[in-house]
Amino acid sequence: MRILMLLWLALAAPALAETIVLRPAQVFDGEAMHPGWQVRVEGARITAAGPNVASDGARIIDLRGATLLPGLIEGHSHLFLHPYNETPWDDQVLHEPLALRTARAVVAARATLAAGFTTARDLGTEGAGYADVGLKAAIEQGIVPGPRLIIATRALVATGAYGPKGFEPGVAVPQGAEAASGPELVTAVRRQIAAGADIIKLYADYRWGKGEPSRPTFSQDELTAATAAAHDAGRQVVAHASTPEGMRRATLAGVDTIEHGSAGTAEVFRLMAARGTVLCPTLAAGDAIARYRGWNGVEPAPAAVAEDRKSFALARAAGVKICVGGDVGVFAHGDNARELRLLAAAGMPVLAVLRAATAGNADAFKLADRGRVAPGLLADLVAVAGDPLADLGVLAKPVLVLKGGVAVR
Ligand SMILES: [Zn+2]
Repeated sequence: MRILMLLWLALAAPALAETIVLRPAQVFDGEAMHPGWQVRVEGARITAAGPNVASDGARIIDLRGATLLPGLIEGHSHLFLHPYNETPWDDQVLHEPLALRTARAVVAARATLAAGFTTARDLGTEGAGYADVGLKAAIEQGIVPGPRLIIATRALVATGAYGPKGFEPGVAVPQGAEAASGPELVTAVRRQIAAGADIIKLYADYRWGKGEPSRPTFSQDELTAATAAAHDAGRQVVAHASTPEGMRRATLAGVDTIEHGSAGTAEVFRLMAARGTVLCPTLAAGDAIARYRGWNGVEPAPAAVAEDRKSFALARAAGVKICVGGDVGVFAHGDNARELRLLAAAGMPVLAVLRAATAGNADAFKLADRGRVAPGLLADLVAVAGDPLADLGVLAKPVLVLKGGVAVR
C-alpha cells in the first residue's frame, strides 16, 4: 500500500528540481560566449558555471552541439491579445468575453515559456481588466505553465485619448486601458498598484482621432506626478511614446523605459542617453502590422518599417540602452525571438542582441536574480541546437527550457 502510494506520488508529482550538470557545446553567460563550459544546478539555483564543474551526485544532461543561455526575457508582451490578422484589436477589446481572453492568455503564457522566455514584462491587458493578476498567481502556484510575469494590469491613458473610438459620443464603449487625468491620474496609479501592478504603463502620446498622427496626451505635470507616485511605491514606469515630444516629456518625468519611439530624433535620443532612459524599439510589431497590410518582406520596406529602423539607428548612435521586447500579441505568442532577429537585421551586433535579451533586460527591469549564468542566480536556462552567434534562427526552437531548475520543455 505504502509503496503503491509512493509510486502514485512519483507519477503524479510535477517534475521536481534536482541536482543536474548541463554539458552543452558552449555557454552564453549573459555577457560572452564560453566554449566548453558546463553548468551545475541544485534545486532552483545555478551553483557553478565554468570549464570544470563538479558532477558528484548530479544527473548529467548531455547537450552535445547545443548552446546554453540564460532564460530569455521578453520586454514587451500582451498575453491577453492575439494576432491582429486573426482578429483586429478593436474587436478583441469590444467583442471577446473576458473568460475567452483569459483562456487564450493561458495558452499564450505556455507558448512563451516553451519558446525559452522564462520572464515576461506584460504591458497591459488591453481591456481585459485585472485578469493578468490572476494569471500571474496561477503561474506562481503551478496551476498553469508560464514565464515569471511583471504585470502592468490595465495601463493608463489620458481621458479620451485611447480606443476603441468612433461610436455614438453619448455611449460608454469598453476601452483598452484605464482613462484618467489631472490629480485623478495619481489616484489611478495607486489603485493599479494596490490591485497588483508590478509596473505602471502610461501612454504619453496617441492618435486622438482616426487618421490623425500621434500627439502628446498627458501634460508634463501629469507624467511627472504619476511617475513619482509609482517610483515611491517601488514600481518602475514604462511609457508608450512614439513622438519626439511624448518621448521628451516621458524622459523628463523619469520613466524607466520608452516603448516604440518610432519617430525619435537624434536630440530626444541624446536626452534619453543622458538620463539613462531605456528604449524598447518593438520592431517586430511594426514588421507584423506591415505584413498584415500586404507587405511580403521584400525591400524596400514600407514607410512605417523604414521609420522604425531609422529611429532605432539614431537611438543606437546616441548610445541609448536597448531593451528587447517585440510587442508580442500583435503577432503570435511563442514567436518572441522575432524581435531579436529584427534587431540584428537592423544593424545591432548579434552578441549585443543576446546580451540585451538576457543581462540587459534583467538590468533594465532591476531583476538581479536572473538574466545571467552565474552561481546563486535562478536556474532559468534555455538550450538551443547550434550557435545563435552564427544564426539567431536557432532560438526559434529550444531543445530544453528550465525554469527554476525544472524542465518545462
Ligand atoms: Zn504594446
